[in-house]
Amino acid sequence: MELEAMYQKLGVSPRVYAYGQRVLERLRGRFEEIDQTAEYNQGKVLAAMQENRLAANHFAATTGYGYDDEGRDNLERIYAGVFHTEAALVRPQITCGTHALAVALSANLLPGDELLSPVGAPYDTLEEVIGIRESTCSLKEYGVTYAQADLLPGGGFNFDAIRAAINGRTKLITIQRSKGYATRPTFSVAQIGELIAFCRSVKPDVKIMVDNCYGEFVETAEPSDVGADLVVGSLIKNPGGGLAPIGGYICGTKACVDRCAYRLSAPGLGQEVGANLGLMPALYQGFFLAPTVTAGALKGAIFAANLYEPLGFPCVPGAAEDRHDIIQAVTLGSREAMVAFCKGIQAAAPVDSYVTPEPWAMPGYDSEVIMAAGAFVQGSSIELSADGPIRPPYAVYFQGGLTWQHAKLGILLSLQKLTDAGLVSADYDS
Ligand SMILES: *Cc1c(COP(=O)(O)O)cnc(C)c1O
Repeated sequence: MELEAMYQKLGVSPRVYAYGQRVLERLRGRFEEIDQTAEYNQGKVLAAMQENRLAANHFAATTGYGYDDEGRDNLERIYAGVFHTEAALVRPQITCGTHALAVALSANLLPGDELLSPVGAPYDTLEEVIGIRESTCSLKEYGVTYAQADLLPGGGFNFDAIRAAINGRTKLITIQRSKGYATRPTFSVAQIGELIAFCRSVKPDVKIMVDNCYGEFVETAEPSDVGADLVVGSLIKNPGGGLAPIGGYICGTKACVDRCAYRLSAPGLGQEVGANLGLMPALYQGFFLAPTVTAGALKGAIFAANLYEPLGFPCVPGAAEDRHDIIQAVTLGSREAMVAFCKGIQAAAPVDSYVTPEPWAMPGYDSEVIMAAGAFVQGSSIELSADGPIRPPYAVYFQGGLTWQHAKLGILLSLQKLTDAGLVSADYDS
């Protein structure tokens, strides 16, 4: 068969290919649903582009101060349209997701205020932003305190603890949608809405921010549709569609976003400065592609879980579970298996496919880390990538794939490498 021969040329044996095809047979219905979500979200993006009369002049490069940058301003109106918010700040001067989150937090918290996370510990890089880990220029250094309500053992919200943690100084509540690299569940938009409503019932005027990283376009609604004052994310994840070479976004109420703009540039300047440096075509076109790119990544995550779970490798989320972000954790159980898995992902890449990933002692981590990435944009995690710390339970975190077909190849090749290394004990021939 022609396709099987192509996979063989790419390094996938007929045996692994056949197993993959059997797994896929069972996923047709779910893939159909994902396509429907993408179709709805494609419409949402298109409608916002049409309502804002997107035209070729918006692609023009600006330099210097960037005053009257219509391309930048219209991109922000389009993001606000898609997220159903009053305002948006979207630009290459926001260097990454952590930067966007740091801007949103430091702009909306003043000395004496308290920040609350009602969903347990935040993403690693935010620990230094907040000052949970001692850090120069942290919010803590500026007199902003931090409180945290942990999740219940099953992963649910601990409403009693949240109520007890909210006090007179609680100014902003931060909710992380994706589990990131933790083991808790990712929250659905509906769950986030429930949590927001609860927090508002305790303190009506509290500001609520959602770290939306990895969650954009996975559902038809976003956290801003269920009451968040601010939603924040990275353009080298879902909403950049793989084309944005840099950037972050903050969408929300005008009052909150204005403050973010003043913090990002300078008081008095705000959104008026910030040249687009010729990046508008990539940011617009990436946003246009984002719903279908996210759908491809989502299919890859579901395929990986359904391929590996029956072979005895525990997966989070589980093979049958609903998805609210694009991250898939696969517990491989040994250092050798992690290396083999990552070799497969790397070998499938369009860029750097000939490189062999090796575990290394990455600064800031207490164990060795292995990473596979062969991306057009450095560090982009909407592109096919896998990584994880080399320590029990030896789990890799797998995400992305600009096309479903590429994600499929990467996952099949990972299983091929595991099989070749004799690390798969289950029989998957029938
Ligand atoms: C990736 C991520 C971030 C940080 O984004 P960077 O672009 O890597 O700085 C923050 N929160 C979550 C949940 C993430 O997944």
